[in-house]
Amino acid sequence: METRRKVIGKSIARRASKHTAASSPCEECDGPLASRKVSAFEHPALGLPGVVLKNAVEEIYCPRCNAVDSVHFPNLAGLSAAIAVARVKQNTKLNGPDIRFLRKALALKQQELAGLIGVRNETVSRWETDRQPIETPSEKLLRALVAIKLSDQAPAIDVDLKELIEIKLAAARKDPRPVPLVLEPTRVLKKDGHRRRVDAWAAVSA
Ligand SMILES: [Zn+2]
Repeated sequence: METRRKVIGKSIARRASKHTAASSPCEECDGPLASRKVSAFEHPALGLPGVVLKNAVEEIYCPRCNAVDSVHFPNLAGLSAAIAVARVKQNTKLNGPDIRFLRKALALKQQELAGLIGVRNETVSRWETDRQPIETPSEKLLRALVAIKLSDQAPAIDVDLKELIEIKLAAARKDPRPVPLVLEPTRVLKKDGHRRRVDAWAAVSA
């Protein structure tokens, strides 16, 4: 299990590696490697609890001894934007880890987000560490910022600003299990006049 965790971390860090099943034998038993799609992939490195990637991640593994050699992610560039947009469409109130994740997906520092929302720097820090719940107007503004700035990078997830502003926020459940957020790779037609298909992530029901 330790090896597997290390491999996953390394693979996410170096992003898309060119390593394929055919290129080298199993490091454990020297057997030939094969690849398989992971039906439901969950990992802390995805940045937000509850995120599941469905039929997306490819695992290079050894059919003989079952060692996992490496894992590969399609369309890693659009992934955090898609997770962020899918999250702001959920009505569960944002908690500290959600807010930190959304800020990072927006590529903003704490003080930059504070400036955009109009609160003090320490307030963002207190939200992110769950020392203070985010107030509803700030939460709605943060959700709208995510939709405005990131929906281009998440073209398979429809987001409506009016719905986001009118969203009825529900308290987070006491149950520590996070609300599942399931994403699946897809291809969408880019609306830029060239009519080409691009990789994207769709949000699907759990
Ligand atoms: Zn092996």
